[in-house]
Amino acid sequence: MTQPQHQHEQPPQQQFENFTASSLYCQKCRATTPVRERLLLVLPDKEIFDYLCTECGSSVGQREVTAGEKMMAQATRPRRKRYLPLKPHTR
Ligand SMILES: [Zn+2]
Repeated sequence: MTQPQHQHEQPPQQQFENFTASSLYCQKCRATTPVRERLLLVLPDKEIFDYLCTECGSSVGQREVTAGEKMMAQATRPRRKRYLPLKPHTR
């Protein structure tokens, strides 16, 4: 008797592809429409993106990208930021 192999379930990859949200539900259009991402607000520790329906132009959602998320995204890059070594206090 051969038992069926347990395959690792792959998580669905259609939530957010990197930074671009493909489509969201628009209440005005009553349908899922492609959206346009617009940078709404830039704060010292986060950025807020606004998602506009490409059909009617109304805002269908917002997303906050915190500095931590940005650091995570940067950490995946091969190039890393050089940090300056802290100088010890001299007495
Ligand atoms: Zn719409």
